[in-house]
Amino acid sequence: MSAKGLGINSKLVHGGYHPDATGAVNVPIYQSSTFAFRDAAHGATLFAGKEKGYIYTRIGNPTIAAFEESVASLENGAGGIATSSGLGAVNTLYMALLGQGAHMVSTAAVYGPSRGLMEKHFARFGAEASFVDTSDLENLRRAMRPATRLVYVESPSNPAMQVTDIQGAAAIAHAHGSLLAVDNTFASPYLQRPLDLGADVVLHSITKFINGHADVVGGVLVAKDAGVHARLRDVMVTTGCNMDPHQAYLVIRGLKTLGLRVERAQQSALVIARWLESHPKIQSVRYIGLPSHPQHELAKRQMSGFGSMIGFELTGGLEAGRIVMDRVRLATLAVSLGGVETLIEHPASMTHAAMSKAAREAAGFTDGLVRYSVGIEDVEDLIADLDQALSAIP
Ligand SMILES: *Cc1c(COP(=O)(O)O)cnc(C)c1O
Repeated sequence: MSAKGLGINSKLVHGGYHPDATGAVNVPIYQSSTFAFRDAAHGATLFAGKEKGYIYTRIGNPTIAAFEESVASLENGAGGIATSSGLGAVNTLYMALLGQGAHMVSTAAVYGPSRGLMEKHFARFGAEASFVDTSDLENLRRAMRPATRLVYVESPSNPAMQVTDIQGAAAIAHAHGSLLAVDNTFASPYLQRPLDLGADVVLHSITKFINGHADVVGGVLVAKDAGVHARLRDVMVTTGCNMDPHQAYLVIRGLKTLGLRVERAQQSALVIARWLESHPKIQSVRYIGLPSHPQHELAKRQMSGFGSMIGFELTGGLEAGRIVMDRVRLATLAVSLGGVETLIEHPASMTHAAMSKAAREAAGFTDGLVRYSVGIEDVEDLIADLDQALSAIP
């Protein structure tokens, strides 16, 4: 059925599904690399793009298409493009929208490898980028150049939980003839829809909230405009970073409960953030749902909830961080986020270790920051776990 006009939870359950002859309630896994041409009379002319159906799974596949249709509908875009990973989506975005001599402005605290891909690889082909704190739009305005083709914002950004005004960023980008893309991984389409706020492209690492079960790596792009969608799809197909049908099946399954998972996790996150804020061993808490967060009001305006990512700084700095990492039992010490299980990590020594200390500080976090991705366990158990770990700090 068409998901048009449905509420978000109905879209999550039914989006992208079209009943087949068997009546299967789920989208089947079309685990096939190739598809028979159905109108043989056209012969070789089919290769000229005349075949209406599926041809080859790198180009398109019914299971993958169901997922793409569902996410495009959630984000209110013209179409979705599923990719092998979140980074596959970032690569597709850069390659489609930048070229030799082109300039990009991006969030300083953008996902580390998104920055590395630009500085290590796209720079070799003559593209340039400025990384600035986009939570202050004045920095974005100042960084714009005549050659700026893309503004690429991550909001909320990892791990300092900085929020960028998407509507304001879109106005600046468009005034300079540039497109705005938003990495919406941390919010998920359940809490934030950047295309509705003026962005041209939205990107997700579906490895995180969209899939939500820590069993798939994948990515997706959604474009507002059909022309931009076609440019992105062409690059995805020619660089071969397509999703696999089985991967798509798992993601569709995960997506159905996105609303339930996000609601539960963010409810617990608020309780935990408040508890941490009053704990003597905690120096500061960064949770966008707390009034103490510098962009709390902005987050309230552009998101429909605050999510479940918490950053906290321990009074004992790096050493105290190490003790907490060693002592937690229910929370798992691991990178990644957005799953049903609570994960804890130390950005300075784990996910953001490749950055210099100065770059980490420019991205808004210190070496004592702990990142906590709240899952759907009982909140009392999560607090008891943190409590016993914090009590080990001398
Ligand atoms: C994980 C992540 C990515 C990269 O996605 P992968 O699926 O790991 O390739 C990009 N952006 C953000 C915000 C992420 O958290």
